Amino acid sequence: MIVLSRLVLASNNAGKLREFRRLLAPLGVDLIAQGELGIPEADEPHVTFVENALAKARHASALAKLPALADDSGVCVRALDGAPGVHSARYAGEPKSDARNNAKLIAELQGVADRRAHYACVLVLVRHADDPEPIIAEGQWHGTIVDAPRGTGGFGYDAHFLDEGAGLTGAELPLERKNERSHRGKAMRALIARLREDV
Ligand code: IMP
Repeated sequence: MIVLSRLVLASNNAGKLREFRRLLAPLGVDLIAQGELGIPEADEPHVTFVENALAKARHASALAKLPALADDSGVCVRALDGAPGVHSARYAGEPKSDARNNAKLIAELQGVADRRAHYACVLVLVRHADDPEPIIAEGQWHGTIVDAPRGTGGFGYDAHFLDEGAGLTGAELPLERKNERSHRGKAMRALIARLREDV
């Protein structure tokens, strides 16, 4: 098992940080957001989640001189050919705004009957910036996009993302239950399984 005592998270997203701190609690890892170390956000120029996650992990690890974990994630809507996808954080442009992103998504789906969507998450863990064997894990969470927001938890598109199995949106699910069902929770459990395999 790879033992990680300190790990830098290549993100300053408060929602992600909250979820990761809970998911990593059993491992006793000290998770530090890159912003706490004064590390600026990396560019995300790529068209796939995995490439962006790798770029973010390498950037954070190089500057922190620590192992780094990056998450690149987004919501992919069937009727929009997978948009917003890797552009989820800035779907409505700069500066990043969850409210404007959600408004744009709901506007794009007016009159559209097919509301199927999934969240995708790719996690990349590098032991150091030039790690030739990054550990990569992914997860998906399927649901539908609803016009009327529901719930106050979560972040991003959660109030409009209905998990039909649970009958609740991402913003209505308590953190623990969101982690059990979400793309990020699934990816994190896969990553932890990989860490346990490695010597
Ligand atoms: P990233 O920081 O470039 O990976 O952007 C991720 C974006 O995808 C976030 O800013 C949200 O808009 C969206 N997103 C990813 N995961 C979630 C989630 O669990 N709930 C809601 N929105 C999410």
